[in-house]
Amino acid sequence: MSSNDNNSAYSDFHLQFIAGEWQKGKDDSINTNTNPYNGDTLVEIQQATKDQLNEAYDAADQAQAEWAKQTPATRAAVLYKAVHILEQRQDEIVDWLIKESGSTRIKAMVEFSATRAITLEAATFPNRVHGEIRPSNTPGKENFIYREPIGIVAVISPWNFPLHLTQRSIAPALALGNAVVLKPASDTPVTGGLLLAKVFEEAGLPKGLLNVVVGSGSEIGDAIVEHKAPSLISFTGSTSVGKHIGELANGGEYIKQVALELGGNSPFVVLKDADIEQAVKAAAFGKFLHQGQICIAINRVIVEDDIYDEFVERFLAHVKTLNVGDPSKQDTAVGPIINEKQVKSLKEKIAKAQEEGAKMILSGEIDGQVVPPHIFTEVTREMDLSRNEVFGPLVGIIRAKDEDDALSIANDSMYGLSSAVFTADMQKGLRFARGIRAGMTHINDISVNDESNTPFGGEKNSGIGRFNGEWVLEEFTRTHWISMQNEPRDYPF
Ligand code: NAD
Repeated sequence: MSSNDNNSAYSDFHLQFIAGEWQKGKDDSINTNTNPYNGDTLVEIQQATKDQLNEAYDAADQAQAEWAKQTPATRAAVLYKAVHILEQRQDEIVDWLIKESGSTRIKAMVEFSATRAITLEAATFPNRVHGEIRPSNTPGKENFIYREPIGIVAVISPWNFPLHLTQRSIAPALALGNAVVLKPASDTPVTGGLLLAKVFEEAGLPKGLLNVVVGSGSEIGDAIVEHKAPSLISFTGSTSVGKHIGELANGGEYIKQVALELGGNSPFVVLKDADIEQAVKAAAFGKFLHQGQICIAINRVIVEDDIYDEFVERFLAHVKTLNVGDPSKQDTAVGPIINEKQVKSLKEKIAKAQEEGAKMILSGEIDGQVVPPHIFTEVTREMDLSRNEVFGPLVGIIRAKDEDDALSIANDSMYGLSSAVFTADMQKGLRFARGIRAGMTHINDISVNDESNTPFGGEKNSGIGRFNGEWVLEEFTRTHWISMQNEPRDYPF
């Protein structure tokens, strides 16, 4: 049955979506998409060639100008329709998130809700975007500042929140009159792209405006960035690849704008007057949601000396109660790791933590790609667990002498994405939060927060740019100053 039939599940995920048509990839290589929990093959996708990528850019180029001319109401209607389709297909989408990305049911619901929210927010953008009139110091001149679509946006997205992190780029981009060429992560081509292409196709998005190209990094990775067509590269992923993308985007023949949402190393600080029970629950959820594979997941737990031992004891007891294993089960808290490469990196981190002198107070057998929670105490700021992004269910707990020491440890990182502090004193919490160099800080909550109307993004090695609300609205449009000289100007010569 066709994917436009509301009653049938989407199918044909073995095809690419280019120029509004579902077509076979022409490269020799195959992307075998597997379920990270049980290894089942979900779909085999013949990958795209560079020629197909060029075709996608040509289609985007041809479709964009016409789309930009459409009334705001026309563009908004497509986005509202997409929201409606997401709602209708919630179960199907949640099921895909579980089987393709190893999301627990809880995480899949969090991701689904965030995806719906940003699509709804983006539906308001066509009518919210606006220009300005500024005064002039030149007699007889008027200054108009127009906000126009940026043109073609290249989107490269990661596998951890594939649906949401792709949609938070493509929905605003399309709403604001742009066209998109998207390369989803190799582990999540369906939830990171093809599924969203089905949703927009069903919502009536004109052909060519959204293209999803599934291909290997070596064939199309650099080419998608270096191509002449995109004016903006919207990349979400690791800091190392992000740096490479930034260099490519500005080191070649064409200069492009880049929005880089990169890695994190979120501190979660518990001050001595905090509600320990609440902090314990928050630390467990903010650390182990999606097995810790979240850029804003808690990476370092920093606890003031006075309550360190009590916090550790209660945290350990709580984490021991978490269910680990099959992500499709309602009460599973910790599911599988995305791929074997990541499991290997976590095994290395466990060994390194012990070598460096951290005390492992909770561990467990690694079964296939399921890594149970590991807790380390007596961790110092110099250790690998503190310095680098873990991206897995391992956590180190650092002892801070006092509030000042806690702040110094929290800021001792080359990342600056999210952060959190627990305290009973809101003034102290606010003072502490303002002392943190990060894009986001949450008082008495986890570092994992994302709302469609608040600025999401980081500083330092966590990236450049902001998502959501007015911030993404600026990011995905270009500013054009046009002045009008209404009377002859008196030139000096
Ligand atoms: P990754 O950097 O390995 O891959 C991200 C994307 O880039 C994928 O689609 C991948 O195929 C693509 N890619 C890889 N090499 C490329 C190249 N040379 N040219 C073009 N594209 C290329 O990251 P990942 O493993 O998918 O995701 C995990 C990382 O992403 C973590 O570091 C995490 O913190 C970060 N992340 C950041 C945010 C954020 O909002 N700041 C959100 C989620 C994940």
